[in-house]
Amino acid sequence: MHHILGQTRAVGILQTTLRTDRLHHAYIFHGPAGVGKFTTARAFGAVLLCHQPSTDPSGHITACGRCDSCKLLGHGDASKSSSTKTTDSGPTAVAHPDFHVVTKELARFSDNASIRNRKLMSIPVEVLRSALIEPVARSAQLGQAKVFIIDEAHLLNPTGQNLLLKTLEEPPPRTYIILVTDSEDRLLTTIRSRCQRIAFVPLSDQLVAQWLDDQPDQLDSDHRDWLIRFALGCPGRVRLAIDYDLFVWAQAVLPALEQMTEGAFPAQLGQQIAQFIDDFAKRWVKDHDGSSKEAANRLASALMAGVIAAHARSRIAQIASQCIPADPDASQALLEPWLGAVDALSATERELATNVNLSIVADHLVAMLYQSLNGFNSATISM
Ligand SMILES: [Zn+2]
Repeated sequence: MHHILGQTRAVGILQTTLRTDRLHHAYIFHGPAGVGKFTTARAFGAVLLCHQPSTDPSGHITACGRCDSCKLLGHGDASKSSSTKTTDSGPTAVAHPDFHVVTKELARFSDNASIRNRKLMSIPVEVLRSALIEPVARSAQLGQAKVFIIDEAHLLNPTGQNLLLKTLEEPPPRTYIILVTDSEDRLLTTIRSRCQRIAFVPLSDQLVAQWLDDQPDQLDSDHRDWLIRFALGCPGRVRLAIDYDLFVWAQAVLPALEQMTEGAFPAQLGQQIAQFIDDFAKRWVKDHDGSSKEAANRLASALMAGVIAAHARSRIAQIASQCIPADPDASQALLEPWLGAVDALSATERELATNVNLSIVADHLVAMLYQSLNGFNSATISM
């Protein structure tokens, strides 16, 4: 678990519970997406299941990597800092009889065709029942313990959460349940109060850079610098940006934003943004069995907003660092367009929730960005 980058506090708490043998039966790992919650849950689970955990030179308790349990998990505690959970959850869940990962994607293995075909925006109760409630009651097959990780636990609806609550109230001995979530507020308070909550935090830019150094990707320095700005401290965001070529978005959209500040209206930008979002969503649905196009559209739109927001934030920081204390009005006038651009992004998100037509929303976003970035000349375009 010492491999987990930037989560010293979370890992420290878990190490203390291991060392003092004060393990809870249920945990909530909460914090932004892509900062290592799932990776940590997996590494912690490996230690709990290991037959001969050992203490490494830095004093951390780790899985041995050699026992039957570690062999079944593939690579013991050696989880590095990668946070692409899609690659390491699937096979593991099947390979180790006492290690269970509950995800919404499990629905595609359901015997029931209507569950299998349902567009997946939540974890179906049937999945929770077969992947957790039933196996919880059985004894551990390798004898050590049973570990359950519920990924994106906030996707359990209230019925599912109430079902889970019963298990959390009377868990069988040596059964550990880890809820992983980036939206803890969507868990019932009764669930939260029965779990030990462990907070995960965004990484510093330096740590994101260090994480990038460990990746196999060959990136030029512009790409790398942009990824660090886009990351918001989440390596998982960087992985996604690399895998889905989001730098191409940045290269198309960001110069257009700068041109807007000089009065040029990029007539094609709205359609281009809509196309990027649509292409991403189609590819996402292809890569993620059972995922819905609507959910993928929303994810793509959020990422596009992230690309624009990251740029606006860095311009705001740049202007703020150059501001003249003696003339706050002048500084405010320079900041205003970029602050307005950020507002336009939130408005777009609200629109997307209600409007299904992507190109209309994208065109409207560009018009709003233009209005804001082109400041007082905005009256010249008709909406
Ligand atoms: Zn082991």
